[in-house]
Formats: sequence, C-alpha cells, structure tokens
Amino acid sequence: MLLVVNAGSSSIKLALFDVDLGQVLAGSVAEIGGQARVKIGDVDQTVRIADHAGALQIALIVIAAAGHPIPTFTAAAHRVVHGGADLQATCKLTPAVIAQIAACVPLAPLHNPANLLAIHALRQLAPSLPQYASFDTAFHATNPAVATTYALPADIRVQGICRYGFHGISYAGLVKTLRDQLDGHLPHRLLALHLGNGASLCAILNGQSVATTMGYSPLDGLTMGTRAGGIDGNAVLRLAQLHGVAATGDILNRQSGLLALGGSNDMRDLHAANTDGARFAIDHFCYWAARHAGSMIAAMEGLDAIAFTGGIGENDAAVRDDILARLHWAGAHVPAYVIAAAEERTIAADAARLHLARP
Ligand code: ADP
Repeated sequence: MLLVVNAGSSSIKLALFDVDLGQVLAGSVAEIGGQARVKIGDVDQTVRIADHAGALQIALIVIAAAGHPIPTFTAAAHRVVHGGADLQATCKLTPAVIAQIAACVPLAPLHNPANLLAIHALRQLAPSLPQYASFDTAFHATNPAVATTYALPADIRVQGICRYGFHGISYAGLVKTLRDQLDGHLPHRLLALHLGNGASLCAILNGQSVATTMGYSPLDGLTMGTRAGGIDGNAVLRLAQLHGVAATGDILNRQSGLLALGGSNDMRDLHAANTDGARFAIDHFCYWAARHAGSMIAAMEGLDAIAFTGGIGENDAAVRDDILARLHWAGAHVPAYVIAAAEERTIAADAARLHLARP
C-alpha cells in the first residue's frame, strides 16, 4: 500500500493505493486546529484536533481500523506545493531534500509549512517508512527562461523572484491520461485548463510545459474562487499602503475573485443565484480564461487540442462552452477533452516508480 498525503494549512487529504495503483481508500481531515471533521472511508466524525500531527495520528488510526495498519504501507508520498528552482522532479525525502523544501517556505508561506508539518509528523509516527515528495512547480521546469524571467534588476532576480507556475501535478496527470486515451498520440500543441477553486492554464508543447498563467505564487493569471488573478504591481503597492502588507495578502488571496465579484467562491452557487453580480463574476472568469488562453496559444505558436480539468473544468459545461466560444478564432475544429483530475494517483505513480527503482 502507498499512502498519499496532501496537506493544506487547515486540512489534510489522504489516499491509499495498492500496488496496481488502484485507489483503496480516500479521505480528509478538515478544520484542523478546532472541531475537526474526519471523513475517511465510511467514517465521518467531528473531533477536537489541535494540529497536523494530531490529524495524521487520528487518520492513521481510522485507516488501520479499515484494515490498513502502518506495517502494510510500503511508502508514503507527499504533495509539496513549492520545490523552488532546484526540486524539479519527484524525489525521496532525505534530510537534505527536507532542508530544501524548508528553504522554499519564503516562496510559499501559505503552503510549504503545512507540507513540512505532515512530513515531520509522519516521520514520528512511522520512522522507517520511506517518504517521497512531488512538487506542483516541477512540471513547469521546462519553461524557457524568457517565460520564467521577470524583467527586474539582476540582483533582484537572484533572490528567487521569478515565475514558477503551479498545478503541475495536475497537468502531468492530464498529459498521461490523455496520451493513454489517444493511444500515445498526444496533441502537439495542447492548451490545458485547470479550473477549480484555484485556476490556471498551461501551454503544453509535445507533452512539456512551455508557459503557464500562475507565476511567482498561485495568485497570478485567471480570476479564481477567492484570488484576484493578474493585478498591476503598483495597485498592490497602493493596497499595501492603505491596508498594510498582511491585510493586502489576505484581500488578494482570500477575499477577491468570484467571491468578491459574485458573492460566492463556488461556481455552482453563482449559477444558482443568477444575479447581475453572479453573472458578471462568471463572465469575468470566462473572459480572462479566454484572454490568457490567447497568450498560451501564442507561446505554442498555435493550437491542436484543448483539455479541461478541475472541479469547474470537469463539471461545468456552460463555462467550458463559454470559453470555447471565445476561442473560436483559434481554430474551428480543435478537439476539446474533459479529463478527470488525478493528482493523488499521479503522486502515487511517481513515488511507486522511484521506490521500485531503488537498489
Ligand atoms: P480545488 O481547487 O479546491 O481542488 P475543485 O477542483 O474541487 O477545487 O473545484 C471547485 C470548484 O468546482 C467550485 O467552484 C465548484 O463550484 C466547482 N464545481 C464542482 N462541481 C461542479 C458542478 N457540477 N458544476 C459547476 N461547478 C462545479
């Protein structure tokens, strides 16, 4: 059994895969730090949990009770949001790699600390279990320098201020699924749209990322559930003057996007509400997805296929049709695919491959 751990700031998602990468069990612990909700397999309970270590401990007890105690695990694999410039592929978690992930905390202050808490907690609970990590930034390591470089002074650029891109595990899984679906014939120039609570686009040329809409952080690019998407740096400076840096971070990441324009960060609520504000929010989402798609298509010098994934991308035909209609100029007969996001399975597959390859 291979355990996949996806830790967020106040939640941990878990999935268990067998040797054939069939998903055996999945679940989550949410609202860590208060009355936490433990939903794993058939279990659905609310219990007080103080921190990530406590959450993992309870999750492993529930998983053991479902017939899968720790000794039946061969390895664990973590989703890590930011691998920085150096961690560009799935790797085994050695003390040196853990130190590199810690060094990326300033780049991803909302995400990497939670990933590290889960890594350390699992090490305490299962000291001999080999652990691996996959990085959301890694798939975009193939972007050319011209795409990743911000036009800033050289001494600033060396401080790690560049475009990294995210959702990479999702895009890597999408490429694999589509390649399998098309018997190895992956479209040459593929526009991929990951549309969930977080949303981004990726230009995938011959299976490799050459451009993406998220940048230094997951804030850039599309209008998202609660993130503003692309915004002028000087507007950010003005907000920081008016509200302070911390509050500005909160405004841009947690109070903006569909929530700010339409009153909800949930696309289903916006369709149901059907108010002027909700319609404008959906219009804004589709307009900016299409506008950024133009940029991705330019980076690939054309378009052969489109693939949607994520909660909105997979389920919301109205949004898909709206975006496709706005891209009619890019080619009337470009096929569009809907691909189920398989982030956990992708993490499991990469870790299993490395684990088996070990001497
Ligand atoms: P996350 O980025 O948190 O993983 P998801 O990929 O689960 O998010 O996507 C969440 C978004 O997907 C929400 O806006 C939700 O409204 C939307 N969504 C989920 N199911 C549907 C559906 N059937 N129709 C429209 N939107 C949906």
